[in-house]
Amino acid sequence: MSLPFDLAIVGGGPAGVALLVAARTHAPGWRIAWCRGSDAAFLPAYGGNSEVHRLNVPVERMGLDAEAPVDFLDWLRCLHPARGVQPGQFVPRRWFGEYLAACAEGQADVEHRQPAVALHREGGLWRLAMADGEALPARRVALCLGLPGTVPPPSAPAHWIADAWAWWRSLPERGLPLGTDERVLLVGSGLTAVDMVLGLRQRGFRGRIEAVSIEGAWPEAHADTSPLDPETREWLETRLDEVADARGLVRLLRVACARQPWRAVIDALRAGSNRLWAGLPLPERRRLLRHAFGQWNRHRHRMASDVLAALRNDRSLSVERGRVHVDAAGQVWKRQRGVDTPVTAALIIDCRGPGFRQALAGDALLARLVREGMLEANALGTGVRTPADPGLAVLGAALFGECIETTAVPELRQQALAAVRGWREGERLPSR
Ligand SMILES: Cc1cc2nc3c(=O)[nH]c(=O)nc-3n(C[C@H](O)[C@H](O)[C@H](O)COP(=O)(O)OP(=O)(O)OC[C@H]3O[C@@H](n4cnc5c(N)ncnc54)[C@H](O)[C@@H]3O)c2cc1C
Repeated sequence: MSLPFDLAIVGGGPAGVALLVAARTHAPGWRIAWCRGSDAAFLPAYGGNSEVHRLNVPVERMGLDAEAPVDFLDWLRCLHPARGVQPGQFVPRRWFGEYLAACAEGQADVEHRQPAVALHREGGLWRLAMADGEALPARRVALCLGLPGTVPPPSAPAHWIADAWAWWRSLPERGLPLGTDERVLLVGSGLTAVDMVLGLRQRGFRGRIEAVSIEGAWPEAHADTSPLDPETREWLETRLDEVADARGLVRLLRVACARQPWRAVIDALRAGSNRLWAGLPLPERRRLLRHAFGQWNRHRHRMASDVLAALRNDRSLSVERGRVHVDAAGQVWKRQRGVDTPVTAALIIDCRGPGFRQALAGDALLARLVREGMLEANALGTGVRTPADPGLAVLGAALFGECIETTAVPELRQQALAAVRGWREGERLPSR
């Protein structure tokens, strides 16, 4: 049997890289295996070739190192001074992909392995089974598996694009499989839909684009806003501590946003939102997910203001409230105020975002580990619980439901640092 690794990281996205960065700083002697397979392009978020697809977090907050969050900005200024990047900018996501690649390549002594297909506990060690049949022993394992994809409706027709990003990447470098006078329907109006609009327009598509979503509105835009003053913040925090249900929370936020700039209120919640979420009874969390999550996302995950302005100035683009569904015969319908209208678009692009509700279905590693009892589903069934075994860490979207904030880089780097610190502290505790 080969010597065990000190740490095996499964997943090659930003969470995996952030963990590598934290481990290299706080546990420099560790022997690390990185099971990332051949997908080193940081897809789907950061592997694009278009500069119209931009970050939705200002550049100075996208660093992977929780102890130096301006690291991405510093890297850009040092390596690409000609780009002239300033704090507050929302730079192309492709640049962040370049930074991820540089961080990953900077870890020369890490051993690269195939994707993991199974995980077992054996004789006090973790044993990962790799896609090429290798069995890899490790003292600690971190699962950084990313976002579950949306599952398409069972009878979706051929012109239903289930994976917007895979479709986008499969296009030839120029042109589109669309006539200029055709119509495109976007199912959803979140940041993926925004990206699709920007990409289609950049490629010269001038036809009608219609977005239909439950919210019926684009995400909000960032704007310069001063943080809440200490007194208001204290007022808000005291009231939040008293909140016991979904209705009370929504009411409190409405009151706060009526008195203060709403962006400052939403931003003030971020640091405490996971604690607040965890403190709510399960039926209330369920209620919030069902009725308020879309609106929360619109206000919380904002885009650059010039992007929103471009959408609003686009006369061939509309966003409407409604639900899109597909009947058993494969006909796509738009339901608005109880009335169904057939959809006649040339392309229908599914932009509903991650399929948290199906996160534990299918054959992905996370779902299998739950079925095998290695991980426990969280109470909402949208991901897993933090593992009880201190040698196993889960980072990122797989924790959605237990946490409400767990997919963006500012959260991922904190989770990475916390995992490595936890392991280091565990080593210092006297053994019983
Ligand atoms: C279009 C888009 C734009 C976004 N923009 C932003 C933004 O501007 N700012 C921001 O902070 N966040 C943004 N996000 C959120 C984004 O989810 C995170 O920034 C980030 O990609 C999540 O990183 P991750 O490592 O957790 O997951 P992922 O990036 O999804 O990476 C997970 C990786 O694990 C691999 N993997 C899965 N299973 C296995 C296995 N069994 N073995 C080995 N490898 C495996 C996957 O192939 C993948 O490479 C965006 C997301 C999308 C989709």
